[in-house]
Amino acid sequence: MIQPEQQRRAYLEALGIDVWVPRDESEPEAVDEPAAVAAVEPSPVDGGLDWPALRDAVSGCTKCVLHETRTQTVFGVGNENADWMIIGEAPGAEEDRRGEPFVGRAGKLLDEMLRAVGQGRNEVFIANILKCRPPNNRDPKPEESTRCRGYLERQIELVQPRIILAVGRIAAQLLLDTDTPVGRLRGKPHRLGGTPLVVTYHPAYLLRSPSQKRKSWEDLCLARRVAAEMSS
Ligand code: URA
Repeated sequence: MIQPEQQRRAYLEALGIDVWVPRDESEPEAVDEPAAVAAVEPSPVDGGLDWPALRDAVSGCTKCVLHETRTQTVFGVGNENADWMIIGEAPGAEEDRRGEPFVGRAGKLLDEMLRAVGQGRNEVFIANILKCRPPNNRDPKPEESTRCRGYLERQIELVQPRIILAVGRIAAQLLLDTDTPVGRLRGKPHRLGGTPLVVTYHPAYLLRSPSQKRKSWEDLCLARRVAAEMSS
């Protein structure tokens, strides 16, 4: 069995962190810029739809203006009965082109992070708050995330994950309906309905701020512990 310390080292190495760097507990907590978050109104749940009907509904969606500029919708990918559900913000340029979430540089890092806790890309289910790319990768507008929310809610209902991992400020704040910065949301389990939810940094942020990768390791270990508790 791999020891926790060995696993931590493997994770840090995989993420390109020198493993001999001593942990600096005095390092100031990165606090992402707080966002102006409008109250998320209750969204229409696309209730009762099965997977094929939900896929069809998403691919033909015109509920917001983003349908005018998308190449295609990005529904989500992975195991429809996954224990882990990963929720990001919105497709970027590469995701819009390929129709799959987290396939750019940030996606590669996300794959590494998940692999380090024993979760392959095909084992988890990966989705975004928005199913269409916002032009120039701008933040989702409140009406866009509200109109798209029902699709995600139905995906969560269908997957019934043991744990949700919210990656990044936008996903975490929208899912938890808060404007608390990621630095203060991470480190403890939350709940979304009946499902435990753990917050971590967005892999794109980790690419810019590699010193935060150690904290993301702690977040993924927390998620793994919570998921294990859910199955015991
Ligand atoms: N960032 C996200 O939040 N989601 C993606 O699918 C790609 C990048």
